[in-house]
Amino acid sequence: MKQKILAATNNQNKAKEFKEILGEWFDIITLKDLDIKVEPQETGETFLDNAIIKAKAVFEAAGGKYPVIADDSGLVVPALGGEPGVMSARYAGVDADDQKNNQKLLKKLANASDRSAYFICVIVYMDKDNIISAEGKTFGEILTQPEGGNGFGYDPLFYSYDLKMSFGRSSAELKNQVSHRARALAQLREKLKAVK
Ligand code: IMP
Repeated sequence: MKQKILAATNNQNKAKEFKEILGEWFDIITLKDLDIKVEPQETGETFLDNAIIKAKAVFEAAGGKYPVIADDSGLVVPALGGEPGVMSARYAGVDADDQKNNQKLLKKLANASDRSAYFICVIVYMDKDNIISAEGKTFGEILTQPEGGNGFGYDPLFYSYDLKMSFGRSSAELKNQVSHRARALAQLREKLKAVK
């Protein structure tokens, strides 16, 4: 029987990606399956801090019964000193939506000559004996205006060097081949093989 792992996310797209990449080795279950409601505050200063905060909160909420995986991700723009970074979801304020965050990013980059950027995802696996982390990045640059309506967050502004198009124009399938999350999951899968 496959080892059950609880995915610490309320985002069904993320849960689906977790299942696609780890499903061959693990039975990925979700918060919804266990009817657990937990919204940990992402107060960490790094992606790793936040992923650990989420993993711990969910591990405890499930009574330590299952190993947990949790991720934290965001967009990093070196010309902006790393912004939006861990603030990616709420760059334009706590009530901000994707459109407001994108507008703020464009404004901040208005005079920038270097528009390079990357998405990063840190994933943490936690059980009662281990904390294992993995990281994935995907590189590109910030366009001067949105292109395409697919995806979410900063996707329409992110021109992917791998795909030679914006993530907003890419299909989900194509994006999942090069995404920071897919790369972090692939690295985690290799590390977990050693534990399993
Ligand atoms: P979280 O990992 O769910 O906390 O995501 C943080 C934020 O980073 C999201 O709300 C988006 O603004 C941004 N982000 C993370 N991954 C992506 C992506 O694949 N495309 C676009 N934006 C992303």
